[in-house]
Amino acid sequence: MRRIYLDYNATTPLHPGVLEVMLPCYKSIFGNASTIYSFGQEARKAIDDAREALACLIGAEPEEIVFTSGGTEADNFALKGVASALKGKGGHIITSSIEHHAVLFACKYLEKMGKKITYLPVDRYGWLDPSRVKEAITNETVLISIIHANNEIGTIEPIAEIGKIARACGVYFHTDAVQTVGKIPIDVNELGIDLLSLSAHKLYGPKGIGALYIRKGTRIHPLIHGGEQERKRRAGTENVPCIVGLGEASKIAGKEMRQEYSHVKKLRDKLENKIKDNIDYIRFNGHPTERLPNTFNVSFEFIEGESLVLNLDLKGIAASSGSACASGSLEPSHVLSAIGVPPAIAQGSIRFSLGRENKEEDIDYTVENLVEIVGRLREMSPLFPGRKD
Ligand SMILES: *Cc1c(COP(=O)(O)O)cnc(C)c1O
Repeated sequence: MRRIYLDYNATTPLHPGVLEVMLPCYKSIFGNASTIYSFGQEARKAIDDAREALACLIGAEPEEIVFTSGGTEADNFALKGVASALKGKGGHIITSSIEHHAVLFACKYLEKMGKKITYLPVDRYGWLDPSRVKEAITNETVLISIIHANNEIGTIEPIAEIGKIARACGVYFHTDAVQTVGKIPIDVNELGIDLLSLSAHKLYGPKGIGALYIRKGTRIHPLIHGGEQERKRRAGTENVPCIVGLGEASKIAGKEMRQEYSHVKKLRDKLENKIKDNIDYIRFNGHPTERLPNTFNVSFEFIEGESLVLNLDLKGIAASSGSACASGSLEPSHVLSAIGVPPAIAQGSIRFSLGRENKEEDIDYTVENLVEIVGRLREMSPLFPGRKD
């Protein structure tokens, strides 16, 4: 059977070039990078090269990169680390209502610890008006944390404007850029970012590795205490093969991202248009223009998203209902709720997120099957007005 993967926002397969540089690491670069003999120094050199490649991808200095176990740890580090370092200044944090759970639940935790958190609303496209950020700042605000692009609906937030506001008010600015690094060009200086989270497995790198960019001079406490790795900002013996994999994924993204994503966007638009032309009672979620080139989220009325996902799977097609982390729960997605999708319609939502291995034929095959499945499932719904019984 054909297998078509349309869930690149959940995770991506390793790029063959990434695997190629990782394998020799597992075989021979096994030294501890904190040791001074040559086994260790080879590992140190491999880590330094990867750090430089990643820094280059986002316009940072290598010393400003701290490797973490992934995007989740980077988000927790940014929020808890700044809240702890600046606890004397009051602990007000501004964020949005459509953050990834790694940010949202870290904020809920800080709230329980007595910090004040403002969750800003977004418009029906999931777009945050920067003037709301400005109005929310008080003299106790220590951090603004706004997702760069949302993983479920793909909306890209006006990060540059928010960065300017944060700078003018002397407040640190963190962005969860897990969905944008490697998909669209990013320069931390142009965007006025002080802290940025990223994750390797969303850009064709390995799982279990990511990084937090920390602008030089930013006050932040470590999340993990122990040895002196990562300039005392993240203790623990480095995961050399995965760090090397992230470095290689960064190099490849820097070279290929523009071309790759113009191809991916063409396929995404084709899928979106064909669905629009062939299926009725649907609603598109996310911003019409300010959106990731690979993502679209659509609600099919009178259908359960989970049944749709399982039926697509029977045809070898992988897509998600809600975010990967939230599926399995019956609660409608907090992101779809925040943009005003009624719960009954939110339940019938699917996210398609495309990537480098998708082909033109995949789109035709997907739409053909989708039309058939949606028709069949709707025939079973007592609420569907088009029922032929
Ligand atoms: C995937 C994702 C994360 C979590 O990253 P992990 O490396 O899987 O921990 C955080 N934020 C966003 C927006 C994501 O899409």
